Amino acid sequence: MPLRFYNTLSQQVEEFTPLEDNRVRMYTCGPTVYHYVHIGNLRTFTFQDVLRRWLRYRGYQLDHVMNITDVEDKIIRRSMEQGQTLADYTSQYEKAFLEDAAALRLERPERLVRATEHIPEMVNAIEKLAGKGFTYQSDGSIYYRIAQFPEYGKLSHMHWEGIRPGARVDVDEYDKADARDFVLWKARKDGEPFWDSTLGPGRPGWHIECSVMAMKYLGETLDIHAGGVDLTFPHHENEIAQSEALTGKPFARFWLHAEHLSVDGQKMAKSLGNFFTLRDLMDQGFTPEPIRYLLASVPYRKKLNFTLEGLRAAATSVERLRNYKLRLETDRYPEGASRSITARAEVARQGFDEALDDDLNTAEALAAIFEYVRETNTAMDAGEFRAGNAAETLALLAHFDSIFDVLRPPERSGGLTDAEVDARIGERNAAKKAREFARADQIRAELLESGIILEDTREGVRWKRKTS
Ligand SMILES: [Zn+2]
Repeated sequence: MPLRFYNTLSQQVEEFTPLEDNRVRMYTCGPTVYHYVHIGNLRTFTFQDVLRRWLRYRGYQLDHVMNITDVEDKIIRRSMEQGQTLADYTSQYEKAFLEDAAALRLERPERLVRATEHIPEMVNAIEKLAGKGFTYQSDGSIYYRIAQFPEYGKLSHMHWEGIRPGARVDVDEYDKADARDFVLWKARKDGEPFWDSTLGPGRPGWHIECSVMAMKYLGETLDIHAGGVDLTFPHHENEIAQSEALTGKPFARFWLHAEHLSVDGQKMAKSLGNFFTLRDLMDQGFTPEPIRYLLASVPYRKKLNFTLEGLRAAATSVERLRNYKLRLETDRYPEGASRSITARAEVARQGFDEALDDDLNTAEALAAIFEYVRETNTAMDAGEFRAGNAAETLALLAHFDSIFDVLRPPERSGGLTDAEVDARIGERNAAKKAREFARADQIRAELLESGIILEDTREGVRWKRKTS
């Protein structure tokens, strides 16, 4: 079966191929840098990372643009409250976002672009829309006239009979009940940052930035546009209205939306005390890999109910896989290969690939791997597992980890590098040989303090890093 995705636009699962050659032009809505991103945002970004990795594995070259929204209602309100310039206020959260993304091993898109660095292009686009009769002015602001775009609503599948022409909305975020003409350029307000332009002094609305930056770097028709499901309306609907009014061409061929994340079955909210950033979870002693694993493990179109219990279970799963890998690397197996296990490895790999081709069904992909792990652990205990099977299995795990990326421990945990841990184990071995057992125990305890667990086995000392 070919690679296929559910397209919000058609409401169908469709076979995916790019418009041109094997290059995928993809735009994803990035963070609004007014605060640390929360785990709901990170769920969407983790889905996009899995999407990137799978497209590349399937032989496509990526040209992925992600925007950084660094001018918007919330940002302006917060920066004014803090008495900071827009740039000072947003740069700290942009930096934090990049740190969080790196901790979660999210690949960097080919281009990260900031809204404030594209104001002239936005002004230009609004002028073009005005020239085509899609805009009107009111009190120095410029609005998009949605009645002029009969296809408005085609992404969010809404009907528009009740819309009153000329009713306007000025805020960047609003819901379907508020579907009205939206603002493209906001007139300057006292104390707010603004840009001088041929449209008058003001600032862009949120929606125009994505249309402009997407088409500047990727052309008039994108292969994939992705984001969180809450962006479908109004943000993505407005992006379509703006872009297609400008070009007369379809703006994006595939629209992929990640579902909501709830916490303990409730909508995440600061007021409910169930609001988590990556930093909050790491302060509670969790490492990033189980968090990545948990966020990736639920297929992106399913709602994800986040619980700390679920996160602890994810940590156990990651640890199980790491232990299994360690066993493969350190146990000695008889020469040769069991043909039935070789065949099983092939089945697991096919199951994994078919699941991800099926609209990134990560849960099925994980099931294929875990079933294989279970069967081969049994085979190892029964002495049926051979050296050749170990090599095949490590290749299977490497394939799994090229997408899930959770097996490799952080470069430095507990402040010790791999080489430093090995050196300490060497010291401990020497102490044991010299029958200095108290010293050996002390080294073991110190390593444990640094998050390093030692296991004495018949083949020697194994070690691993704690996952939570
Ligand atoms: Zn956007």
